[in-house]
Amino acid sequence: MSEESHRPGRIVAVLGHGVVPAHAPVLRADDLGALRGDGIFETMHVRGGAAWLIGAHLDRMAASAARLDLDLPDAEILSGLAMQALAAWPADAEGALRMVCTRGPEGGGPVSVYATVAPVSEVVLRNRRQGITVVTASIGFAADARQRAPWLLGGAKTLSYAVNMASQRWALANGVDDVLWTSSDGYALEGPTSTLVWLDGRSLCTVPAETTGILAGTTARHLLDRAAELGLVAEERMATPATLTDVDGVWFTSSVRGVAEVTAIDDVKLLPSDMTRAIRELLGFAA
Ligand code: PLP
Repeated sequence: MSEESHRPGRIVAVLGHGVVPAHAPVLRADDLGALRGDGIFETMHVRGGAAWLIGAHLDRMAASAARLDLDLPDAEILSGLAMQALAAWPADAEGALRMVCTRGPEGGGPVSVYATVAPVSEVVLRNRRQGITVVTASIGFAADARQRAPWLLGGAKTLSYAVNMASQRWALANGVDDVLWTSSDGYALEGPTSTLVWLDGRSLCTVPAETTGILAGTTARHLLDRAAELGLVAEERMATPATLTDVDGVWFTSSVRGVAEVTAIDDVKLLPSDMTRAIRELLGFAA
């Protein structure tokens, strides 16, 4: 039997219906999530049968819903849905829980809300183990532009991820693992699905989300809140990609990938950081 056949199958749970067959259609053809990417989502790491940092994710989901003026059900209802999905998932298997809320049918109607649990992809596991090369790519506007443009939905985790996915495909097509998005005024911002974290001396740094409109990462927040346990001090600051080639460690963090060490930015190779293992362990990820 192949390794693949031991992996648990995807679980799908729909609000109001509970767990449904994984292949069952759960959205109408005119659902605005499908038509316009008009909705929000969260992805969480599943460990020991539970969703890691679910409170922080549901808080961020509520903030995203407020930005989009979306009628998201209460956190208790959402965590109940997550528990229904997780009850059908083997407790010893690592997984990824997604919670989705779309604006619902085009002509009006209730939001569509569902959860899925799926295995962690081999690519994610490899990135965690081996680290990633990244290429810089501009998002085309200045680092502070989203402060003055609420319609750009800075800080909201919307379903409109086609640009994020295209960025990553473009990196892969160019022989690189991921993208480091930069602003038009030259600052490093975030990855299309991850937060940028770096170590400069004893300062464990990330980019300020409030002023730049990047997504405030739950994994990076959790890590920076515990910086003292690593003998470090947490800091938010702006940096250019060039600065990052001369620091004591650069990582991409995200809920399911955990922590992936950045091994090269554009054509510049970075020295391995001796903090990677400690960070991974602090976040509770196996190598
Ligand atoms: N930035 C973006 C654009 C993301 O999509 C993600 C996660 O998917 C992150 C950062 C990392 O966030 P978190 O650590 O909450 O998963």
